[in-house]
Amino acid sequence: VTEDPYADLETPSVLVELDVLERNLATMARRARETGTKLRPHTKTHKSAWIAKRQLAHGANGITTAKLGEAEAMAAGGVDDILVAYPVVGRSKLRRLAALVERHAVIVALDDHDVAKGIDEVGASLRTKVPVYLDVDSGHHRCGRVPGLPSALEALRIADLAWVELRGLMTHAGHSYQARSQHELRGIALSEAAALVSTAEETSKRGLVPVELSVGSTPTAHYIEAVRAAHPEITEFRPGTYAFYDADQVAIGVASEDDCALTILTTVVSRPAPDRMVLDAGSKTLSSDAGFAPGFGHIKAEPNALVTMLSEEHATVRVDEGAPWRIGDRVELIPNHACVVVNLTAELFGTRRGAVEETIVVDARGKTR
Ligand code: PLP
Repeated sequence: VTEDPYADLETPSVLVELDVLERNLATMARRARETGTKLRPHTKTHKSAWIAKRQLAHGANGITTAKLGEAEAMAAGGVDDILVAYPVVGRSKLRRLAALVERHAVIVALDDHDVAKGIDEVGASLRTKVPVYLDVDSGHHRCGRVPGLPSALEALRIADLAWVELRGLMTHAGHSYQARSQHELRGIALSEAAALVSTAEETSKRGLVPVELSVGSTPTAHYIEAVRAAHPEITEFRPGTYAFYDADQVAIGVASEDDCALTILTTVVSRPAPDRMVLDAGSKTLSSDAGFAPGFGHIKAEPNALVTMLSEEHATVRVDEGAPWRIGDRVELIPNHACVVVNLTAELFGTRRGAVEETIVVDARGKTR
């Protein structure tokens, strides 16, 4: 009988190898220090105040969240200096924002004067200027106007509001995930930065000098040295997935499998054909987000054992004929996309040298409001 280090854990369970997590956090923090760039990690990856505090301990200058609810969870967990990188729209959201701004250092991202008017009302009610970042489109084509004059003019309009402080410009090069070569990825990282620099030039000509220029994704963070060399105006970057990495990041070429801190411990529950087995973790554990790498994930250290299909509670794995796994065996899966796995579980089991050392609560699980 082979030893099962996690015999006490039922499956599926989400594991985080703490030494790998710490190494990932330390490496990115060192790169931030060495390039003189502030690190504001996006915490949507782990949704846990415990890990956010480890990031701050390694030297992060603050954190990023998407939703207000994530920011509330982080603040309740003792984390301050939060960028809510999402337009806060609607009466009740603005009320919640006011409660947060009253007690914590909060920056809000937005891309439109109409959104800023709501933030201005929050500021007016508290008699305090609320700092905002204008979101600029560097090629992902999600939020944000095109860089340069169109974004600059919007920034100037927003800066005219009495209770809003246009603190900076921000962008997220989500299209970096489509890069097909390191050359292309490096180009996207440089143009992500150039989008903010060209916009800041236009606002500066008109008397508005943004304090922060904030770029960020995990793939483009891989080129932070080149970015800062070409564009020293960039002050901050916001990678998120780097805390865990995943099969997508390995496929993109910015991490190796040894850097993947998060795995899903699963049990083989069916072995119906020589080239097929079924694990007890389906889309309710992995999500149906296929990511960018082939399939949905693979067995750790076994890139050929690919999850090719997910049902709600089954992962169908294509294996080489004669593969050793039998019913009852437990295997670790590396997901293509780690962030969505975290949102589907209440706790992560932090492991060290084969033993569970820490139960990490996913404080902001499901906080999509
Ligand atoms: N900043 C923003 C605004 C984002 O939307 C994201 C990811 O969705 C990030 C930073 C972090 O990027 P990544 O997931 O590549 O680490």
